Amino acid sequence: MKLVEFLEKLSNANGVTGREDEVRELLKKYLKPYVDEIREDKLGNLIAFKKGNKDAPTVMLAAHMDEIGLMIKNIKKKGFLQFTKIGGIDDRILLAQKVIVHTDKGPLNGVVGSKPVHIQTEEERKKVIDAEKLFIDVGAKDKEEAEKMGVQVGDVVSFDTKFARLSSKVVLGKAFDNRVGCAIMIEIMRRLQKVDCNVYAVGTIQEEVGLRGATIAAFQLKPDMGIALDASVAGDTPGVAEGEAPAKMGEGPVLTVADAGLIAHPKVLRLLIDSAKENKIPYQLETGIRGATDAARIALTREGVPSGVIATPTRYIHSPVAILNLDDVEKSVELVVAAIRKVPKYL
Ligand code: ZN
Repeated sequence: MKLVEFLEKLSNANGVTGREDEVRELLKKYLKPYVDEIREDKLGNLIAFKKGNKDAPTVMLAAHMDEIGLMIKNIKKKGFLQFTKIGGIDDRILLAQKVIVHTDKGPLNGVVGSKPVHIQTEEERKKVIDAEKLFIDVGAKDKEEAEKMGVQVGDVVSFDTKFARLSSKVVLGKAFDNRVGCAIMIEIMRRLQKVDCNVYAVGTIQEEVGLRGATIAAFQLKPDMGIALDASVAGDTPGVAEGEAPAKMGEGPVLTVADAGLIAHPKVLRLLIDSAKENKIPYQLETGIRGATDAARIALTREGVPSGVIATPTRYIHSPVAILNLDDVEKSVELVVAAIRKVPKYL
């Protein structure tokens, strides 16, 4: 399979935080041919291992498997579903979204509804509707029917968006944060073949609610270096001021210098920049964006782990649909493969 096909399959799969199973199964299937060992830990991280030389350093790659979504918190008498948000979601983008409610009896189609514009007051129309006032309509006539359809409190809800190609380079889909990191990680392991370093490729759980999976994965694996593969904000759209989010789609992978949870270790940053320059791979440096990645937790494991982040610039991140450029994905793979080969010289 090609890199873009991994991305398509992973983007179409559903894995709202805490329910990453579908993504984990895909990742397991795709990684298996390229690694020596693969297992799942007690909380659900997927841990794949490629053996290197015994005395060589151990590198941990982390790509979170979970995506932002919703969770059912109440079924109203008339069958409408109230929900809570999982992960950072802007209330303004929820209205009228097609969604999938994942029940024990299988997936249900639904829509996020609200009062129609025809009967809203002037004041109401100007205001953003809080997520608490929105509801999901799965077509049930009352609570009893919703329950019969399988809906329970705690069911997760994902956005109903199918992967599509916009041009030869640009693709659209849901959950690119962080299925793009997952796809990049598979391709890295495929291309690495023989390598000095011992390399762990970890699909982590529950990143969007506080980097939880990475915390326990790094503790188990005791890496010498951590690299998180994630998605970052592309600020190249109308309305973003210069300097607010400098990364642009199509201009290469983003190397995080600092974010809300991590100051990239100078050795790791140097390794990534040198590898990019030597291989003529374009890259973009970024700092000052809110949010953090798995690298923040890996870095603070045990005695500390030098860590960094490589992110794919993604437009409309944390919304039901995002856009990215496949060149950035390819260049991220090339960069990490080149960097892993040089790790022993930098630690
Ligand atoms: Zn992410």
